[in-house]
Amino acid sequence: MQEAGLSNPRKPNINVSKTDAVREALERNFLLVCARGDCKEEAAAVRDGRTVVPASAPRHCAVCGGSANQRAVEEMLRACQVRGWRRLCVVGGSPNARTALTQLIGRDLDLKLVDGTMSRSKGQADSDLGWADVVIVWGSTQLNHKVSLLYKGPNVVQMARRSIQELAKSVTRASAQAKRTQA
Ligand SMILES: [Zn+2]
Repeated sequence: MQEAGLSNPRKPNINVSKTDAVREALERNFLLVCARGDCKEEAAAVRDGRTVVPASAPRHCAVCGGSANQRAVEEMLRACQVRGWRRLCVVGGSPNARTALTQLIGRDLDLKLVDGTMSRSKGQADSDLGWADVVIVWGSTQLNHKVSLLYKGPNVVQMARRSIQELAKSVTRASAQAKRTQA
């Protein structure tokens, strides 16, 4: 926190307005991982300079996110299969959430992850929109307004909650709705 200029050792408390910045600084520097061997191996492979730290609970694991995320993602994968969706584009999300999502989805869907903090051209966004069966705009995460505004269309789902579980549920719901409108 001191390195990120958010606090210093003489301050016992931290201002509430800084909590998002604190979380982001933590995610840039640390990768929380549960005790599963698979997760530890995966974390070592993807840590990208971050320090691997044991997670206090499995749901904080950046790789598997605990079993709730896993169940929701499995349900999403089944729903996509039924619907014939093979390509998912996710705009936004923290680096750790993207890591966990990639790990949970595996090879069952083609996944394109757009870093919401990097600038994106209209052409790039249009190509993402054309490529994907469904595009999730992951609000309330690390997502610039300028980036999210580029993603609009019938295959775009906006969501406001930050958990992977909620993301998976949004895709599952969207696939059910798409089926209904087509029928
Ligand atoms: Zn794990």
